[in-house]
Amino acid sequence: MNRSVRFDDIRALLVCHVDNAGISRVKVLPHRKLLSASTHGVTISNSAGVLFSVDDHLNATRDVDPVVGDLRGIADTSSMAMLDRDARLAWAPADLFSLDGTPHPTCQRTALRRVVDDAEDVRLTFLVGFELECTVFRPSPVEGEPPVPATTGPAYSTRALLEVEAFAFAALEALDVAGVPVDQMHPEFGSGQLEFAFAPRDPLAAVDDLALARVVLTRVAQRHGLLVSFAPVPIVGGSTNGCHVHLSARRDGRNVFADPKAKLGVTPLGANMIAGILDRLEEGVALLGGSVLSFARLRPHAWAGADICWGEGNREAAIRFVPGQAGMGAEQSNIEVKPVDAAANLYLAVAAIIAAAVDGVARDATPPKPVRVDPSTLTAVQRRSAGIRPLPADLGSALHRLESSEFYRGVLGDVLIDAYVATRQHEWEAYGEHVPEDVADIVRWKY
Ligand code: GLU
Ligand code: MG
Repeated sequence: MNRSVRFDDIRALLVCHVDNAGISRVKVLPHRKLLSASTHGVTISNSAGVLFSVDDHLNATRDVDPVVGDLRGIADTSSMAMLDRDARLAWAPADLFSLDGTPHPTCQRTALRRVVDDAEDVRLTFLVGFELECTVFRPSPVEGEPPVPATTGPAYSTRALLEVEAFAFAALEALDVAGVPVDQMHPEFGSGQLEFAFAPRDPLAAVDDLALARVVLTRVAQRHGLLVSFAPVPIVGGSTNGCHVHLSARRDGRNVFADPKAKLGVTPLGANMIAGILDRLEEGVALLGGSVLSFARLRPHAWAGADICWGEGNREAAIRFVPGQAGMGAEQSNIEVKPVDAAANLYLAVAAIIAAAVDGVARDATPPKPVRVDPSTLTAVQRRSAGIRPLPADLGSALHRLESSEFYRGVLGDVLIDAYVATRQHEWEAYGEHVPEDVADIVRWKY
């Protein structure tokens, strides 16, 4: 897929940065300023870069002042993509820099790059493929009423696809123009729900593409008179939206996960990585979603991976081991980390997962036995003896675990962790006691 975009072909560039609330914030550069996109970049206030919550509440930390100070958002033009050929609009992700030209310690994209580089130092390279779920709405036929899901099912059905066919195929075409490689698309379980599965890429490109894909899908939906929500709980009582992370790893050119001859079907290195991720889930899960509703999603029977355990093909486990199909196993095998949703800053979510996996290798960590049943059907005693643990029950307790995590403070730095926690802590204090319906109404169109 050719992604090369020439400055001559564009009238304006959207320089986008995903903040700690998981929201894409933007500055637009007109053609005249394009040459400076990757040198001077755009001005981003401390608030817009790292301190806004989902409701635009402005937070403060010891190191980052919400009012005084600026950052530079330097566009990474090597990841530039075409949003609209006719309108000559392009998109690029930005890294956050201090005014003195050094990377800012809160830059989420830089943090992921560093984690990936550190993994390469121990000869581990990763590929990431996202499954992005979203819910498509159309205006209510009744004037003054809120939008309604654009499909009515049945789950995964051709009928549901046909209800949004024009949008779905225009979206695929626009993703193709943008150079985002889609592997598969389907109507999901819930009303209005679609899933786009993206091809495995190097981690930074995968997260960039995900951010870009969301812009593309939101844009195309609007052109079809539709609205798209990436909120983890778009409709209370309906199907939740996940953003599962498929992770494969290579050492010396070989996929390290599958080993059909090994006892658990997984190589010792793969087992180390599974253990590493599971061991850090309590302290890291606030980075994998991090909104109040992310924890309303993490419930049994939603295939959201609400229990800390793993198993081959197990959709209720936090890690689903995917051994690959006959003939393709070793190359295709990967793990799917499920307690991830699109309210996260996905640069940080992927950094958290990869850092934990690499740490598992460094510690030669051993995972518990794989779980072959729905973990919620086991008794408390069975769960304990299988080493199955619940995730923190709500955002408040997850943030508490993250704030006191020496591991993630080491990986991401205190300045970044403090800014992230402050941003999300406001959301917990402001909305943690609300009924989910109210929170869903507030955030449905934010992500
Ligand atoms: N919608 C589910 C979630 O919230 C995932 C369903 C699936 O496994 O595709 O994660
Ligand atoms: Mg799905």
